Amino acid sequence: MTSLPDGTLLPVLGQGTWEIGDDPKTADAEQAALSRGLDLGLTLIDTAELYGNGRSERLVGEVIRDRREEVFLVSKVRPENAGEMSMMLACEKSLERLGVDRLDLYLLHWESRFPMDEIIAGFEELIDEGLIARWGVSNLDLRAMDRIEALDGGTGCQTDQVLYHLGSRGIEFDLLPWAQERTMPLMAYSPLGRGGKGGLLEHPALVAVADRHDVSTAQIALASILRQEGIIAIPKASTVAHVEANAEALEIELDAEDMAVLEHAFPPPTTAQPLDII
Ligand code: NAP
Repeated sequence: MTSLPDGTLLPVLGQGTWEIGDDPKTADAEQAALSRGLDLGLTLIDTAELYGNGRSERLVGEVIRDRREEVFLVSKVRPENAGEMSMMLACEKSLERLGVDRLDLYLLHWESRFPMDEIIAGFEELIDEGLIARWGVSNLDLRAMDRIEALDGGTGCQTDQVLYHLGSRGIEFDLLPWAQERTMPLMAYSPLGRGGKGGLLEHPALVAVADRHDVSTAQIALASILRQEGIIAIPKASTVAHVEANAEALEIELDAEDMAVLEHAFPPPTTAQPLDII
């Protein structure tokens, strides 16, 4: 478990839902996978109004219909909808698709042309109206986080959801230590490097460590980033087998020999890097 700055306890492994709900033929399997994840304690579900133009939120809504109280529900507002006149409506539409009264966490999906003080005021209004419990951001680098912290209400920010996996460790140089100092968990998106699509999971170093533990490379990829304090990983899995494998990754303990192999293949950053974004 880890804790948000406001003290809310959360599991360090949640479930992503990008590209879930897009194809009616796979919807049953996707729902079964998310439900199984809830059974296994992966109770943080991450979605966004952007994903499939609301189809991801609708499918999540089906999954949590009778299980709302078990779930820590995260959705995101598109930057162009984050202004004073548009955020409330965007949030209401997300709530309707999800079939819930309130989000547990609402994130700005990436940097917006609207000023951040206006966005924070919008989030605070949503909290006052009871539509969201708390707010955070996504895809913002250290400079942007420093600026937010200095704004009125800026310390209300509960997380920054950023790209983080073994093949993209730039945040370890500055953003992650910054967040750790504030006990603000970072939410690691694409923690599997998007699975089969990015090639990360076929890397020989991952294969070698996976073979030592008799587990899969995806499980090692997850275990390696979950060693960091203050990381919540949100892999997306659309099969029960994948979600079960991901939950099992919580049990893997990487030793010094494993870490030497991984650090050699995926060295940690030694200088500040621009934030990686999908
Ligand atoms: P990801 O989680 O790195 O990878 C997903 C891929 O990994 C899928 O193809 C999935 O296959 C596969 N996979 C899952 N578990 C596996 C396992 N145990 N073994 C082998 N393959 C496995 O990529 P992602 O979807 O980009 O990132 C995760 C979540 O982060 C998203 O779904 C979304 O919620 C969030 N996200 C946020 C942002 C942002 O801008 N804030 C950007 C990207 C993503 P199956 O589907 O076949 O199971």
